[in-house]
Amino acid sequence: MKAEFTKQMRKALLELKEEILYTLAQESDEFRELIEDKDPKDLVDIATDDIDKRMLEILENQDIKRLNLIEAALSRIENERYGFCMKCSAKIPEDRLKAIPYATLCLPCKSKEERKNR
Ligand SMILES: [Zn+2]
Repeated sequence: MKAEFTKQMRKALLELKEEILYTLAQESDEFRELIEDKDPKDLVDIATDDIDKRMLEILENQDIKRLNLIEAALSRIENERYGFCMKCSAKIPEDRLKAIPYATLCLPCKSKEERKNR
């Protein structure tokens, strides 16, 4: 994976995360209190671990799932594993990552997963 591309994706992931956190803050007073005293720049440092259990219950499941995927992708960037499928280690095409920066599975593995969950 090219360093420049990874850098771009890291930026995209952080922006996505900020967007989700802001949306959540608009939907939930409790969540707003949680992030209120933080500098907007620090928002990106909020890990899903910081959001306590009670909070998780009131938040939309879908958003939490996306936040988790974003966290996972960010830590994969740190570990230089970003862009490789979590299942089969195949390289994930850049076009797919551009469309979904937090994709952790290649397309064949993703469709297998989806068939299993249906
Ligand atoms: Zn795969």
